[in-house]
Amino acid sequence: MSQVTPRSLTLRYVVALGLIALLSIVSHFVLTETLRANEGAAAIINMSGRQRMLSQRISALADDLHRGDEEVREPLETAVRQFADAHRELVRLASRKEGASVAERRLHDVYYGPAEIDRLARRFLDAAEAEIALPRGGHGAAAADEIGNLRTLSVLSRGPLLGGLEEVVAIHQSVSELRAQQMERIQWGILAIVLLTLTFEALFIFRPMVRRISVYVGQLLDLADHDYLTGMLNRRAFTARAETEIQRARRHDRAMSLLLLDVDHFKQVNDVHGHLAGDEVLCGIAQILDMQGRREDLVGRIGGEEFAILLPETSLAGAIDVADRVREAVAGEPFTAGGKALSVTLSVGVAEVDRTSPRGVVTAMGRADQMLYRAKNAGRNCVRPFRGAILPLRNAAKGLEPVLAAPPVLGASAEGPV
Ligand code: GH3
Ligand code: MG
Ligand code: MG
Repeated sequence: MSQVTPRSLTLRYVVALGLIALLSIVSHFVLTETLRANEGAAAIINMSGRQRMLSQRISALADDLHRGDEEVREPLETAVRQFADAHRELVRLASRKEGASVAERRLHDVYYGPAEIDRLARRFLDAAEAEIALPRGGHGAAAADEIGNLRTLSVLSRGPLLGGLEEVVAIHQSVSELRAQQMERIQWGILAIVLLTLTFEALFIFRPMVRRISVYVGQLLDLADHDYLTGMLNRRAFTARAETEIQRARRHDRAMSLLLLDVDHFKQVNDVHGHLAGDEVLCGIAQILDMQGRREDLVGRIGGEEFAILLPETSLAGAIDVADRVREAVAGEPFTAGGKALSVTLSVGVAEVDRTSPRGVVTAMGRADQMLYRAKNAGRNCVRPFRGAILPLRNAAKGLEPVLAAPPVLGASAEGPV
C-alpha cells in the first residue's frame, strides 16, 4: 500500500474516468449509427410498401379510365407521378456506392438482380404513362395498344412487381432485425466493460484510497491524543478515557483512584541544566510511570511537569501504595543530563474516584490537585491522600492547614532536586 501515492491514485482515477468517458462516446456513436441505419431501412420499407399500394391503384384507375371515366385521369396522373418519384429515389439509394448502408446494398441486389425490380417498375411506368397519353375511344392499333397497356399494368401490379416489392420489404425488415440484435449485443458489451471498469476502480483506486485515508486519520487521532515529547496521553485524551473507565467502574461497582504527580522544583532543573536536560528528565519520568503501572492503568501527561495516573480496581489505600512506590522509584532514579548526574522528586496528590458522582473524574482531579498542593506545602517529595472535606484551594495554596487534616503519608522531604 505504501507504493500508492496520491499522484498514482490520481493517475489511475483519471485513466478509469477516461475509459468510461471513451466508452460513453463509443456507445453514443454506435447508437447514432444504428438509428441512422434503421431510419434508412425504415424509409426504404415505407417507400416500397407505398409503391405496392400505388401499383394497385394505378392499375385500377387505368381500368376506370379505359371504361371512359375521365374523372380518374387526374388521380391516375398523380399516382403515376408519385410512383415515378419513389422509384427514382429507390433507384438512387440502390445505386449508392460510397457509404451505402447494408439495407441499400440489399436494395441494389433486389433491384438489379434476378427480381429485376428496376426493369419491371420502368415497364409498369411506361405502360401507365402510355395509357394516360392515349386518346380515348381509339380504334385499330390504338385500341390494341390500350388493351396491351392495361394488361401489362394488371399483370405487373398483381404479379412480379408486387412480389418483388414485397421481397424488398421483407429483406429490409430482416436486415433491420439483424441490426437491432447486433446493436443489442454491442450495448451489452459496452455495459459489461463499464461495470468492469467500475469494479476495477473500486478495487484498485477507492479501496487503497480509503485504506490510506483511514491510516492517516488513525495517525492524526493518535497525534491528537498523545503528547509529542513523552508519547503519553495528553490531558484531553486522558480525561476522555478516564470518563469511560469510570463508567465501567460504576457498572461493576469497583473502586478507582487517581494520582496527580508534579515534579518538584522542576524550574530549577531547567535553569541549572537547560531545557533539553529538562525534556530528558520528563521522558525518563514518563518511562518510570509506565513501568510502575499495570497494563490497565491510565497514565497521562496533563501539564508541563504534571502527570496523572488513573488506577482502576484500586481503593484509596492501594492508590497510596502505588503513589509512594512511584515517588520512591523517581527519587531513586539517577538521571543524567549532558553527562551530569541529577535527581528529581515528585509530590503526589491521591483521591479515590466517587463512583456515585456524575462528574467523578473531574471531582477526583480537583481533590487530588488540592492534595498535591498540600504535599508541596508539606515539603515536597511526599504523598498526600484525600480523606474528607478540605479547605478551598486558595487557602491550601497559602499553606494553611486543612480543617480535616489529611495526615502526611510516607516520605516528606523539603529538599529540592540536586
Ligand atoms: P514546584 O515544586 O512548586 O512544582 O516547582 P516547579 O519549579 O516544578 O514549578 P513551576 O510551576 O514553577 O515550574 C514548572 C516548570 O516546568 C516551568 C517550565 O518551564 C517547566 N516545563 C514545563 N513544561 C516543560 C517541558 O516540556 N520541558 C521542559 N524542559 N520544561 C518544562
Ligand atoms: Mg513542579
Ligand atoms: Mg506544576
